[in-house]
Amino acid sequence: MLRIITDFDGPIVDVSERYYRVYQLCLEKARQPQQQVKVLGKKEFWQMKRDRIAETEIGILSGLNEEQALEFSKLRKQTVHTQPYFEYDVLAEGAIETLSKIQHLHVDLAVMTMRRVRELDYAFTKYDLGKFFLENRRYCLANDYVKTRDIEDKPLLMQRALAELPPATDTWMIGDTEADIAAAKRHNIKVIAVECGIRDRIKLVDYQPDLIVKNFSVAVDIILDNWQQQAG
Ligand SMILES: [Mg+2]
Repeated sequence: MLRIITDFDGPIVDVSERYYRVYQLCLEKARQPQQQVKVLGKKEFWQMKRDRIAETEIGILSGLNEEQALEFSKLRKQTVHTQPYFEYDVLAEGAIETLSKIQHLHVDLAVMTMRRVRELDYAFTKYDLGKFFLENRRYCLANDYVKTRDIEDKPLLMQRALAELPPATDTWMIGDTEADIAAAKRHNIKVIAVECGIRDRIKLVDYQPDLIVKNFSVAVDIILDNWQQQAG
């Protein structure tokens, strides 16, 4: 049995608009009423996220002072994973077609995400994605989970998944951040990083995934080709 474990935000959903709206809101809240700030364009902002530039630095580059930048960073953290901002998420290019292909080929598919149950359910309902993921293939955080850092929390989620899931002949992880790569590598799982998410290739290289590819559909095609070759 071939198993694919995929991250959600990045490979399947494009979160850039959500992050940008939250940036704009927090910048507005953190500045003084008369203070001129420099609102970054979306492209510029998103490239900074992809370069892994710290939130406080983004605040300072937008014209805030250091104290305001700390407040901006705190606000952002409190806001980015809340409603109504999830409404700005859109499906990544080719996501539905690729999920349909996986389902059609009876590949065992699990999702592994730092979203909370309610946040994952929201997107599943909105984009009718629930049909692609069995109830016991949804690895996410409980609604009351106290998050630490993704790079710590995600390997724990992977540990739980590997303890619970029936054994597979071949397992691959697909994700867009260092947390996905760390989770897979800590448990000796092959990992493909995608460039369509919140990190660019240069950053991803640092974490040494097995492969870096354009997006989810390219990653899945490579996994399927590899599997067919093994089957001979
Ligand atoms: Mg992600």
